[in-house]
Amino acid sequence: MTANLDSNDTVAAPEEPPIRVMALHALLYCERLFYLEEVEGLYEADERVYAGRRLHEERVPKLDDDSRELRSFEVSSESLGLFGKVDAARIRDGDWVAYEHKKGRCKRVSSSDKTPMAWPSDRLQVAAYAMLLEEQLGQTVTQGRIRYHQDNVTVRVPIDDLIRAEVRAAVEMMRRLRRSGDRPPVSDNEKLCRRCSLRVICLPEEERITVQPEGARDRATLFPSRRDRRTLHVTTVPATVKRSARQLHVETDEGTKKIPMEQVDAVVLYGGAQITSQAIAACVHEKVAVQWVTTGGRVTGMVETPGRVRQRIRQYTALTQSDICLQLARVTVVAKIQFQLQYLLRGTRGNEIARAAAQADIEMIRRAVSRAEKSESLDSLRGEEGIAARHYFSSFNQLLSDRVAASLRMNGRTKHPPRDRLNCLLSYGYSMIFGLVQRTILAIGLEPAFGYFHQPRTTAPPLVMDVMELFRTLLWEMPLVGSLNRGQWDETSDFEIYPGHVWLSDEGRKKAITLFETRLTESYRHPYTDQSLEYGRMVELELRLLEKEWSGSSGAFGQLRIR
Ligand code: SF4
Repeated sequence: MTANLDSNDTVAAPEEPPIRVMALHALLYCERLFYLEEVEGLYEADERVYAGRRLHEERVPKLDDDSRELRSFEVSSESLGLFGKVDAARIRDGDWVAYEHKKGRCKRVSSSDKTPMAWPSDRLQVAAYAMLLEEQLGQTVTQGRIRYHQDNVTVRVPIDDLIRAEVRAAVEMMRRLRRSGDRPPVSDNEKLCRRCSLRVICLPEEERITVQPEGARDRATLFPSRRDRRTLHVTTVPATVKRSARQLHVETDEGTKKIPMEQVDAVVLYGGAQITSQAIAACVHEKVAVQWVTTGGRVTGMVETPGRVRQRIRQYTALTQSDICLQLARVTVVAKIQFQLQYLLRGTRGNEIARAAAQADIEMIRRAVSRAEKSESLDSLRGEEGIAARHYFSSFNQLLSDRVAASLRMNGRTKHPPRDRLNCLLSYGYSMIFGLVQRTILAIGLEPAFGYFHQPRTTAPPLVMDVMELFRTLLWEMPLVGSLNRGQWDETSDFEIYPGHVWLSDEGRKKAITLFETRLTESYRHPYTDQSLEYGRMVELELRLLEKEWSGSSGAFGQLRIR
């Protein structure tokens, strides 16, 4: 028998690479899901995806008779424009049949008629495999079978002209979407989003809030409120991070600590801490960031994974437009100054002496906010930011309790290098925010070197500098002031004093990292999405909202404030 392909078969242009058959699932589920996965390369394997993979690895049963069989093999077709891996193909009644194995349940005809049926996307997928198979074998395949393991049933799918036309139409649609530079809009069907593996990246509810501010706010957002992984800070020297199976082993003079890979979102190596290339490769594979930081807290490098081309082109296109840059810079500077203002107001509330001492600075910061809101240039925003920072740090001591030693109080802001203990603490905390923002920017696929406000004057990536402005007060100044007021810093053992600069000692560094990591586990109610989430999730949420500013819906980025 010969393959029964129509003469008007879709012919892929030579430059159009074939598309995964698996992508048909995404397409039928939601066009935006297809675009995010297949065009932008954004995958998020949740438990359902892992379970499906395990099923394919473990449970495709072998035949117990002498029938001819092919198992788990690659098929592709330039003319059809598809490629994939067929679970199994078997001879049944003299004809080849394509088999698909699914972990879940089958569809039923109706609530009263429980006859098993294939889900539409499974039906299309098995038909595509059958068409690929017949091209490869040169024989007609007239049937596909789908095994639903949870129901223990097999559904037969006839491969007729109708379904062949559906497969070709779907391929055409996928090609059209792939040529488009824009993400399709979020699905109208909110139920789909709740089960979607890419909801964390897509943020459909946050997008609906910007389009329909009323009503949408009542719906739960789908962004996870807690980090399910933690950052591994390797501060001890000598130390070497190795990989063994699915664990990271941190070897030091004191012994070996074993941490399961799935519990780690980043490995941060301080000073001379080492990591093997096997461990780096495993981290890249598992999307675990690897970052090198000096003992002084400066980020010197990190491992970057390739890809995300479309995302970056959209970012470049947007951030070369001065009006978009100005708008984002205005949002960022206003948010930063508002944080400083609100923190000074909150920190001096109920303390008449401190409030009176800070009042003049508070007024100046208030005016800077209102001018920044109307600023029409990046230079004027830089001016307002500078004015606000001067007045904020001028009153910083009003946030500190009388019990805080004079050596730990503000005596003017100094940075490169910090000349006193408080400046040393501030700079170290800002470096940790820098590292976190940089890791997150790379993890979600943006380009850190392309920002909207800071100029590329140093090696520091401008987008990291831009976005970290939102987090200085929230993630570091507030917990630092709290810890100073609780008397948690020792002016002798936590610092190393040199002529002209002050560093943290090993002990001080560990204390700072612990304070920062603890802050990341505390919760905050986001005023825009009205969702309570850990500070550690906040950076990713803001960056994903930032990307939305040039990917379909704007207005949600930079709206976080102190309540
Ligand atoms: S979250 Fe919703 S809109 Fe976004 S890709 Fe998934 S189904 Fe589509």
